[in-house]
Amino acid sequence: MMERDLNDLRESYESGKTKEASWRESQLKGLRRFLMDKQQDIMQALMQDLGKHQIEAFRDEIGTLIKTLNLALKSLKDWMSSKKAALPQLALLTSAEIVPQPLGVVLIISSWNFPIGLSLEPLIGAVAAGNAAVLKPSELSPACSSLLASSLTTYLDNKGIKVMEGGAEESQQLLEQRWDKIFFTGSARVGRIVMSAAVKHLTPVTLELGGKCPAVVDSLSSSWDIEVTVKRIIVAKYGTCAGQACIAIDYVLVEKGYCSKLVQLIKLYINKMFGDNPQKSKTISRIVNKHHFSRLKNLLADEKVKESVIYGGSMDQDNLFIEPTILVDPPLEAAVMSEEIFGPLLPIITLEKIEDSIKFINCRPKPLALYVFTKNQTLQRRMISETSSGSVTFNDAILQYAADTLPFGGVGESGFGMYHGKFSFDTFSHHKAVVRRSFLTDFWYRYPPWTLNKLQL
Ligand code: NAD
Repeated sequence: MMERDLNDLRESYESGKTKEASWRESQLKGLRRFLMDKQQDIMQALMQDLGKHQIEAFRDEIGTLIKTLNLALKSLKDWMSSKKAALPQLALLTSAEIVPQPLGVVLIISSWNFPIGLSLEPLIGAVAAGNAAVLKPSELSPACSSLLASSLTTYLDNKGIKVMEGGAEESQQLLEQRWDKIFFTGSARVGRIVMSAAVKHLTPVTLELGGKCPAVVDSLSSSWDIEVTVKRIIVAKYGTCAGQACIAIDYVLVEKGYCSKLVQLIKLYINKMFGDNPQKSKTISRIVNKHHFSRLKNLLADEKVKESVIYGGSMDQDNLFIEPTILVDPPLEAAVMSEEIFGPLLPIITLEKIEDSIKFINCRPKPLALYVFTKNQTLQRRMISETSSGSVTFNDAILQYAADTLPFGGVGESGFGMYHGKFSFDTFSHHKAVVRRSFLTDFWYRYPPWTLNKLQL
C-alpha cells in the first residue's frame, strides 16, 4: 500500500505537474475550501480530541491557516519567480539569478496539540513550493487525524498529496523511505529518531521541537502594565490548549520582592477569566490522554514540589482536566523544572535581581521562545544579545506565532530550520544559483600558463 502511494507521488512529481503554478494554486485553494466548508467539523474534532474551545480552535488553527493561505495565494507568483543577483563589475556581460525549485517528495510528521495547524501550516509551504507531499498527523489526536485523512483529501489531488495515518510504527515505516525533505514537529526524543533515519539518504530535515519557554517578569510599577502582563501570561498558559503548546509559557522568573504581588494578581485574573470552577467554564482544554495526565500528575508527586503549590492542583482523571495551578519556588532539580511541562502548571521562580534571569536562562537548553515583560530598554537589549532562543517577545506571548513576516523555529535543543509565510516556501525549496555568460568578452589572464605578470594584473 505504502509502496504504491509513494510511487504515485514520485510519478506525479516527475511528471512536472506539481511544479506548475496552476497546480500549486488549485491545491492551496482546496486547502482553503476545506477550512471554510468544514469549519464546524474541525471544531468538533478539536473538541473531541482536546476539549479545545471553538474560539481557540479558530484563533490558533483555522483562522491562522486561512490567513497563511491567503498570503500564499497572493504571493505565489512572486515567491516562484527567479530573483536577479548582483555580480561584481568585473564579470562583464554576465547575469545571475536565483531560481527557487521544489525539492521533490516530502514528508511532514506532525504533533497532536495543534493537530490541524501544525499539519497544514507546513503542508501549505510544501505545496506552494511545488512538492508532492505526505502528511502523517499524530495518532494522539485521532478525530483530527481521521478528518484530515477522510475529508481533506477530497479537496486535494491525491496523486500529489497524501495523508497517511498511524503512530510510531507507521511513522518509522515512512522514515525508512527515501524523501527529499522531512519536516518534523514533536519531541526532541523523536526528533533524534527522525534525524538518524534521514542520515541514510542525506535527507534535509527541519525539526520543530519544544522545551521550556521562560517568561521573565520585571517589577513593573504601573498597575495597568502589570495587569496586562498577568492577563497575557494567563492566556499564554491556561488559555492556549491548557499549556500544551510548544511556545506556551513554561515557567516565570521574577524578583523575590515582587512575587507575592504577581501571584495575587494571577489568582485574581484566573478567577475573572475562568470563574470559581474553571472546569465548568468549558474554556480550558483538557489533557490529551491518560498518559499525559499521569505524567503531569507525577510532576507534582514529589513532596517538596507539592509543598510549593500555592494555587490550584486539583485534577479530575475521568475528564482529563487539571485546574490552573501555580507553584512558587519548586526545587530546581525537580522534574517540573527540568522537563518541559506541557500542561497547566505554572512554576514561578524567584530571583534576587531580574538581571539574574539571563544567567538562569543561559544555564539551560536554548528555548523555542523567550518572553520578557519589561519597559527597561537596557534589559531588553541584554535579553536579545546575551541569550539564545528561537524568538524573543517583549510584553506579550504566543502572538509571534501568527506573524507571517517572522521566521518560526528553534535553536539548539528546540530544533532547527524555520517556517511560516515566505520562510515556509523557502524551507521546501532549493534556491538554485544560475549564471549566464556571454561569449563576447574574454581575457587571456584567466588561463594558464600562470605567469607572474598575470598575478600583477
Ligand atoms: P512526539 O515526538 O511524541 O510525536 C510527534 C510525531 O512523531 C507524531 O506524529 C508521532 O506519531 C510520531 N512518533 C512518535 N513516536 C515515534 C517514533 N518512535 N518514531 C517515529 N515517529 C514517532 O511529540 P508529541 O507528543 O506529538 O508533541 C509534543 C512535543 O512536540 C513537545 O515537546 C512540544 O514542545 C513539541 N512541539 C513543538 C512544536 C513546534 O512548532 N516547535 C509544536 C508542537 C509541539
